[in-house]
Amino acid sequence: MIPKNHPRYESLLLRDKVKNAFLDGYLADSGMIAHGRGETFDYLLGEKTVPAAEEAMKAAVASLLLAEHPVLSVNGNTTALAIDEVIELAKSTDSRIEINLFYRTEERVDKITKLFKDHGYEDILGTNYDDLYYFDKITNPRATASRQGIYIADVILVPLEDGDRAELLKEAGKKIICIDLNPLSRTSKMSDISIVDNVVRAIPEMTRLASEYKNKDEDFLLKIVNDFNNGENLKDSLDSFKIKE
Ligand code: ATP
Ligand code: MG
Repeated sequence: MIPKNHPRYESLLLRDKVKNAFLDGYLADSGMIAHGRGETFDYLLGEKTVPAAEEAMKAAVASLLLAEHPVLSVNGNTTALAIDEVIELAKSTDSRIEINLFYRTEERVDKITKLFKDHGYEDILGTNYDDLYYFDKITNPRATASRQGIYIADVILVPLEDGDRAELLKEAGKKIICIDLNPLSRTSKMSDISIVDNVVRAIPEMTRLASEYKNKDEDFLLKIVNDFNNGENLKDSLDSFKIKE
């Protein structure tokens, strides 16, 4: 038990969730390392949503609402940290949710499928029983996509995606939105919209924005998307990091 008055309570709580996901068998050991890297960036960001991230989220939500087949891709880390928040975002943007694991094993996929069911979300894609397609001719395990989900998706939200997979999705012509605390990662550089924030803050804020934008017309959403410049926004995100006390 982490005492509530611990100065690093929130951070330790997240670390605990990630550790438990590993012990429960649905998060790979490298997922814990990825979390540690994220913690460092978050610390330097002041563990708050910076204005650049808020701007990126507006463009991201507008893109999801304008999309024909929006999909939210989930892995072990996202499941451990924000399962209910992802389900809420899917509902508020009419997106499908698809499991996509860097180290895909049947056991991990089954465990994540069951967790989403237990949290009230029945029709997750990318399960072991789903009809998975490959993006490239080679049957690369990193290239799988559900035929009803990522394979036909036009806009995909990838919280914590790996650079190789992001590249593959881009090559397949998808519009990519990432949530990645590292503005210098290949994923952040490769994405069309990069939200430099922690998934635990970004996903609920995106749901809030979706309810705000739900009744706006298409022109309003298009203007937000067209006015957004990811290169500029990434520079602003980078400027938000503090390396002095
Ligand atoms: P890339 O493959 O894109 O170059 P990488 O190899 O440096 O990135 P990965 O291990 O592939 O990194 O992906 C983990 C990424 O997720 C890291 O950039 C890390 O900062 C980020 N990250 C970890 N935890 C969180 C979190 N809770 N919210 C947002 N981002 C996170
Ligand atoms: Mg990587």
